[in-house]
Amino acid sequence: RKKIAVMTSGGDSPGMCAVVRAVVRAGIFYGCDVYGCYEGYSGLVQGGDMLKKMEWEDVRGWLSLGGTLIGTARCMEFKERWGRLQGAYNMIVAGIDALVVCGGDGSLTGADLFRSEWPSLVDELVATGKLTESEVAEHRHLNIVGLVGSIDNDMSSTDSTIGAYSSLERICEMVDYIDSTANSHSRAFVVEVMGRHCGWLALMAGIATGADYIFIPEQPPKAGEWQAELKKVCMRHRDKGRRKTTVIVAEGALDDLLTPITSEEVKDVLVEIGLDTRITTLGHVQRGGTAVAFDRMLATLQGVDAVKAVLEMTPDTPSPMIGIVENNIVRRNLVDAVRLTKSVATAIEARDFEKAMSLRDTVFVE
Ligand code: ATP
Repeated sequence: RKKIAVMTSGGDSPGMCAVVRAVVRAGIFYGCDVYGCYEGYSGLVQGGDMLKKMEWEDVRGWLSLGGTLIGTARCMEFKERWGRLQGAYNMIVAGIDALVVCGGDGSLTGADLFRSEWPSLVDELVATGKLTESEVAEHRHLNIVGLVGSIDNDMSSTDSTIGAYSSLERICEMVDYIDSTANSHSRAFVVEVMGRHCGWLALMAGIATGADYIFIPEQPPKAGEWQAELKKVCMRHRDKGRRKTTVIVAEGALDDLLTPITSEEVKDVLVEIGLDTRITTLGHVQRGGTAVAFDRMLATLQGVDAVKAVLEMTPDTPSPMIGIVENNIVRRNLVDAVRLTKSVATAIEARDFEKAMSLRDTVFVE
């Protein structure tokens, strides 16, 4: 009987609970035992009660919930070999031979490293007398499947990550609220949204709310020139009769010299053209609350496919990441997806914006 553990790791996102529900129930349906690994990789490192067998009814009502009820954490110990060794020991003692990880690129990098190191970790556990040959006999291979839980929609090889559309919905709702006051008082609002290396939330929220101007890291404006451009655009809209001004700034917005563009600076520019301007930093409301229908659907279909992938994997199958591409649930090579995602961030850091955009295009086209 296959024993699968499911964990949520890194920053939380709406839909993570639905992932756990889907993995638990699909696992039981296909005749497996499913364990919840609590608090991300910390649960693996600590073992014992942190790896709990979950039953069908344990996840009742989890489909729409926000956050993750099995907890998530940033676990420094797992970045060290001794932490992963401890994790391997705890998994083998619990009889677990497959791991479904729902998290961002960091979590999936950790998962891949764990799988590639697994044989040597098992050897070390035997060599140091912690486990015997017979205890590890059934655990020579570890199956890992990645699911992408992140509000940023920053992972390559998938069109959308679990939680991104819930977050977008929340941002749009907040901007609609702000719009009431902006219209009433004819004010300008600078709305800062999440997204360190990825401007997807800012861009889509800008389109969906009809913002006057959007700043994203992937398309940095010219240093020293964007201020005049911003003024020109906002004035043009006002001249056409618009009573409000909305500018969306991604938290990772930069100019082409890599200097951050802050909400304060944007506000100062709008004040210079005589607009009564306020800043609203949305913060963690963007990450919380119930998951929208799309994320519930995505989490469910991908959670079920994660269990199927575990059951179909051979020791030679590369670890898959479950994605969605053009409305199809697909399995992509986890290592490639993480590498491509990191290279977008690296290209932005190296000011190679053209490359960053072409990598993003690759992501969209693929
Ligand atoms: P988010 O998108 O919200 O930042 P993330 O999954 O990228 O999510 P990280 O903090 O980067 O978040 O990673 C979560 C956890 O994954 C880390 O705390 C650590 O336990 C594990 N992890 C990340 N990178 C590695 C790595 N290179 N090796 C081993 N474990 C890692």
